[in-house]
Amino acid sequence: MAALEIHNVCKEFGGERVLKNVSLAIDSGEFLILVGPSGCGKSTLMNAIAGLEPVTSGEIRIADEDVTWQTPAERDIAMVFQSYALYPSMTVRGNISFGLEMRKVPKAEREAAVERVADLLQISHLLDRKPSQLSGGQRQRVAMGRALAREPKVYLFDEPLSNLDAKLRVDMRTEIKKLHQRLGTTIVYVTHDQIEAMTLADRIAVMRDGNILQLGTPDEVYNDPVDIFVAGFMGSPS
Ligand code: ADP
Ligand code: MG
Repeated sequence: MAALEIHNVCKEFGGERVLKNVSLAIDSGEFLILVGPSGCGKSTLMNAIAGLEPVTSGEIRIADEDVTWQTPAERDIAMVFQSYALYPSMTVRGNISFGLEMRKVPKAEREAAVERVADLLQISHLLDRKPSQLSGGQRQRVAMGRALAREPKVYLFDEPLSNLDAKLRVDMRTEIKKLHQRLGTTIVYVTHDQIEAMTLADRIAVMRDGNILQLGTPDEVYNDPVDIFVAGFMGSPS
């Protein structure tokens, strides 16, 4: 069954068409990577899935439920975006459990969830610190932990590693891959890093100018690009 379906989604900003009839179905447990040049509509699509921006037309379904007009909180998703603002006055523990509190999850369950993700992300020793006492990479893990504390149908990651240095990015990439293998979660992940796309994706969707040009396995997109743009973008051999 598809965990997430996008049917003919269009999005306009002041008459400018930023998403042009995008359709996409993502299987349960699939790791889908969205790539494309800056400004092609990746974040707009992610925001539409998350419910942060209403679509102009089209339909979005999560686990076979029409969520097109639901608020972000009503949708069974968790997101990590580029600007992963943590609450500065709260501890790491507070940051991770806040979303669960908002959803009225009982205290014992919240504590168990915090323990689980802290263990998974190796941040158990940081739980009582404030964000200002953490390194960039540690903050990134906390942001990830906040998303993982919930077990939603779909995770949305929009360039979650772009603020990190190269070494840490590679480490985090490995960790995300392990998490996906371990938890079998459905992930939609935006990156402009081709290596990240090739190593993480079950399938890659290549976007340009508000359209999906190609959708396929890393091997298909790299070795059998549909056109010269995809070939150039993926760095395919000519
Ligand atoms: P990407 O994430 O692929 O870099 P975006 O989805 O952020 O691209 O942006 C796609 C296009 O939509 C850009 O031309 C951008 O300027 C425009 N856009 C995005 N958000 C808004 C907005 N809130 N208002 C007006 N235009 C927007
Ligand atoms: Mg973007």
